[in-house]
Amino acid sequence: MDTTRYSHSIQVGLSFGLVSGVITSLGLVVGLAFGTESRLAVIGGIVTIAIADSCSDALGIHVAEEAENVHTKAEIWMATVATFVAKFAMSATFLVPILLLDLETAVWASIVWGLAAVGGLSWIIARRQFTSPWGPVTEHVGVAVLVIVVTALLGRFVAATFA
Ligand SMILES: [Zn+2]
Repeated sequence: MDTTRYSHSIQVGLSFGLVSGVITSLGLVVGLAFGTESRLAVIGGIVTIAIADSCSDALGIHVAEEAENVHTKAEIWMATVATFVAKFAMSATFLVPILLLDLETAVWASIVWGLAAVGGLSWIIARRQFTSPWGPVTEHVGVAVLVIVVTALLGRFVAATFA
């Protein structure tokens, strides 16, 4: 077994699944909380994301790895499963604040957790490549902040328009 090839597959799945899990869940929590002010909607949304979006991302990675045309079937499936597991686990962590706290506090806790997770992951990935982490950390946290602002505004707009 060539472990370096499998480590590529696992790295692809983990980094994609974890980062995607944070961004999607953050957008969903903020957008649904601002749009509906319903704890139930946010819980239902996270559960749906954890299953459906994990399948979607896993299949996306599967096709992308196939398209590289350099991987064996086993490597491609390793990346597929790693993506599903990482995305599912990361999305599920966003259930913790919403189940334990009131909605407003849970939104703030999700934002703090999400930004810390994206920053931490970007830091770890950059350090593994022996490059300075500040560039990628700023860039990725910046994208996450943008997602939060846009989904909050969209949620407000949806509530004002359709409520
Ligand atoms: Zn690849």
